[in-house]
Amino acid sequence: MNNNELETLIRTILSEKLEPARRENTTTALFDDVDQAVGAAHKAFLAYQQCPLKTRSATISAIRRELVPHLQALAERGAEETGMGKVEDKLLKNRVALEKTPGVEDLVTEAITGDEGMVLFEYSPFGVIGSVAPSTNPTETIINNCISMLAAGNAVFFSPHPGAKNVSLWLIEQIESIIFTACGIHNLVTCLREPSFDSTQQMMKHPQIALLAITGGPGIVNMALKSGKKTIGAGAGNPPSLVDETAVLDKAAQDIVSGASFDYNLPCTAEKSLIVVESVADALLAEMQKCGALMVSGDANIAKLRQIAIIDGHANKALVGKSPLELLKAAGLPAPDKAPRLLLVEVDADDLLVSVEQLMPILPVVRVRDFDSGLRLALKVEGGLHHTATMHSQNVSRLNKAARLLQTSIFVKNGPSYAGIGVGAEGFATFTIATPTGEGTTSARTFARHRRCVLTNAFSIR
Ligand code: NAD
Repeated sequence: MNNNELETLIRTILSEKLEPARRENTTTALFDDVDQAVGAAHKAFLAYQQCPLKTRSATISAIRRELVPHLQALAERGAEETGMGKVEDKLLKNRVALEKTPGVEDLVTEAITGDEGMVLFEYSPFGVIGSVAPSTNPTETIINNCISMLAAGNAVFFSPHPGAKNVSLWLIEQIESIIFTACGIHNLVTCLREPSFDSTQQMMKHPQIALLAITGGPGIVNMALKSGKKTIGAGAGNPPSLVDETAVLDKAAQDIVSGASFDYNLPCTAEKSLIVVESVADALLAEMQKCGALMVSGDANIAKLRQIAIIDGHANKALVGKSPLELLKAAGLPAPDKAPRLLLVEVDADDLLVSVEQLMPILPVVRVRDFDSGLRLALKVEGGLHHTATMHSQNVSRLNKAARLLQTSIFVKNGPSYAGIGVGAEGFATFTIATPTGEGTTSARTFARHRRCVLTNAFSIR
């Protein structure tokens, strides 16, 4: 076959594949109302349910492969549209979501056999999942949820954050097209052209939504929990970082600065306060400054930062995810020649900067007498959100005690907080950490029904 013949053959195959969609003039991915979008996703789910597992795997592989060239654009567009975060960190987060979110292999079958037969426990899909994504990790959450939910055999209606609408819709359209090319089914992912808070509420009540997966602040998570539908709620956190006198201080300093400055502290998992045993506090803070953190001292200067960061007891949305230099400027404080990675402020334990989830690269530091008082404070600061905590110590008993008492979904020992979401560490990636509802770091099996299939009096072959 010569080149011309080959080209004609490829064109014929492509046109055959595309023709049915053109003929039907189908709307794909983006719709004008919730009913159409959820209905289309439900139809897609019914078709997908008939596909073998190898089709699901091929679909996930195609998403992983075909989105790679778009990662840089996603990071740039996400940072630009939301006005939050750092492009290079967003690139890393999107890459990790694409590469390290588990696929179909996450749905591990269990079997019990005995004289009376066999029981299989398997994971099967729910149907159409309503996925709400935050503005802080808009595309990372869509990529992560899409892989997990499709791997489990579901279709997804996405409610992206209106503040990240353009980049989210663009991504969902790309994913929809990749999925169609891979498995021939349209609308396994859908969304509205104009996502809004109202449409999110409407989606929560839609009879064809089988499950809600909500990644966001307490308002939206609580709203979903009241909807009457099964909800996987990934809510706010306020992760403390606890350092005792046995910690390897230069490593702890590097880890905490890296974690707390990552994407300008936007991740819900990022260190939001530092609680340090006073005998090593000066040494730790000196090491942190060597790693690029800037100490802002003086009550008046700290008050200026507090005033711009927190308004009426909540993080100032206009400054969430801004750089340390932008924060200094907003507070009217002088900027150093070299841009700092993180701002440090020494405060009392009951300071608002400690108790409010700021999502800004300002790390409040509290000195404590000893490990036990530090752990008590960490418990209070985490506030029973069951989200994330980190600790730096060489004392195994203390690490164990803190892990047991804090009961957080993610507990990182001697590492940066992002190690807990699979960045530069063992473990799979996730951007939906289910906290109030307890599923923890979610993956495909979280978005599946756990079913029991019994065969009596056979198939024990021991
Ligand atoms: P947000 O609560 O403002 O918005 C989250 C989503 O909910 C958005 O899609 C938004 O459109 C929607 N929403 C918000 N209020 C709504 C309402 N009244 N009606 C309908 N829809 C509504 O959150 P954000 O500022 O984008 O994200 C930051 C928050 O999310 C932080 O609190 C952070 O800790 C949390 N978060 C948690 C996780 C996790 O995995 N646990 C991950 C990322 C972010």
